Amino acid sequence: MRAALAEAQKAWDLGEVPVGAVVVKDGVVIATGFNQPIAGHDPTAHAEIVALRAAAKALGNYRLPGCELYVTLEPCVMCSGAMMHARLARVVYGAGDPKTGAAGSVVNLYESAQLNHHTQAVGGVLAAECGDLLKSFFAARRAAARAARGGTIVAQP
Ligand SMILES: [Zn+2]
Repeated sequence: MRAALAEAQKAWDLGEVPVGAVVVKDGVVIATGFNQPIAGHDPTAHAEIVALRAAAKALGNYRLPGCELYVTLEPCVMCSGAMMHARLARVVYGAGDPKTGAAGSVVNLYESAQLNHHTQAVGGVLAAECGDLLKSFFAARRAAARAARGGTIVAQP
């Protein structure tokens, strides 16, 4: 999860919402990804999708059995679907996402009996750190927006 957090920081550095992911096989990181939909003009460029694509390329296989994906934020419906298609063994996430989380916060695709899936989900790993990174990002963005409007008078030293 520390490696996923480092990926999230890369997203922040580019002005993207800081979410990072890594794919691990046999204890080794085989692929990384960070959220980058704005820069790539790509609504599917969530951290998980970027990491899944890189992992599949690295292994030369469109399926990723025996692999685990670590991501700083609870996966959305799209990413959960992609991970199930990849037959990923397990996804481990940090912070829950009350707006789009598909591992229990909004819906739980991983416990849906109707879906023929192969992926387990585990949440709450380094949740505070993963969530704080997002909160800090949005706080900084709001502050920048206020400053741009000239609405905030900063106390002079
Ligand atoms: Zn997603």
